[in-house]
Amino acid sequence: MGTALFILMMKTPSTQLNPNSEPLNNACNTPFAPSLDTVQQVDIREREFRAASLRKSERWTLRTPTKKDIIKRLEKISHKDALRMKQCCSLFKHLTCGQHTLRSYPTFRCKKLFCPDCVAERANRLSRQTEAKIAEAMQTNKGRLCLLTLTMKNAATLDGGLSNLKKAFTQFKRKKVFKERIKGYFGGFEYTFNPKTNDFHVHLHLIVLRGKFWNQSDISDAWRDVTGDSFIVDIREIKDAGKGVKEVCKYVVKSNDLMKMPDDKFLEVVKMKKGTRMFISGGCFYNVKLDEDAADADDNIFSQFADLTEGDACPFCNERLFDVLVDRSQHIGLHELNAMPNVVKNNSS
Ligand SMILES: [Zn+2]
Ligand SMILES: [Zn+2]
Repeated sequence: MGTALFILMMKTPSTQLNPNSEPLNNACNTPFAPSLDTVQQVDIREREFRAASLRKSERWTLRTPTKKDIIKRLEKISHKDALRMKQCCSLFKHLTCGQHTLRSYPTFRCKKLFCPDCVAERANRLSRQTEAKIAEAMQTNKGRLCLLTLTMKNAATLDGGLSNLKKAFTQFKRKKVFKERIKGYFGGFEYTFNPKTNDFHVHLHLIVLRGKFWNQSDISDAWRDVTGDSFIVDIREIKDAGKGVKEVCKYVVKSNDLMKMPDDKFLEVVKMKKGTRMFISGGCFYNVKLDEDAADADDNIFSQFADLTEGDACPFCNERLFDVLVDRSQHIGLHELNAMPNVVKNNSS
């Protein structure tokens, strides 16, 4: 239905499209009535809009080098996973008038917990989804928001470390003292890798609504009770719930740590069971959940443009909007990665 889809190869991260390219001129030749806004208002909004676009492309550029390294490493282990991650965020759909890009979102995401692009999007989506729910829970439940970190002794395997931590937390939350002090909690698991000792350090970051004061050494004692040997905990008050959410879900594993792992540990991370629950919630924050299937939170530069679609007028210049596909792989250097090698089958038979 008159869909104008073009593939443009872009050399710069700019969200602006080249106004001289022919297809754009052809697609934008429908005249429109002057804008509803006054000239001045449009000017201010446009400047804000451009600043936001720039900040956004900067974010992408920052994540790219580590992503490239991870893909290179992944290619040696899993052909399929490397290909998925290479495709992730390499092709973007833009809603544009030819001059202003109002929306841009990747056509495909790998959703891997070690993909810098996908984990960042996950944290953004989570903080957007949960803000209202947290505020609602705090209206009926009085208390202080705190960041509670529970850690375990280093573990040789990731699976083992995570399941021990999960078991310990299940016991911990059933404790009378926990129920008395903590009205609600939510948060995520995270792990780091120590190359010197060659083991994983798994921990749990929680945002909790604390009723009665609970000091660190008492928490530590209670935590040692359920773990037997681990007692390092931390609790601190936080002011900004939104910031806190982003903080606890910023990453599951840091890319740096991933690159330090020897092949066998790296493989363990890659092969970690799909659907391993990395986010938990309970108590009055039971509703604070991560909707895995929700729309991409990273796609809109400004959320007020979320309803615009192809054929609508651009709020800045009133030109007709259309969708284009933009190949970002060249800009982010993914095209430099070798063409995928043929899979070498093991002759086990
Ligand atoms: Zn990804
Ligand atoms: Zn425009």
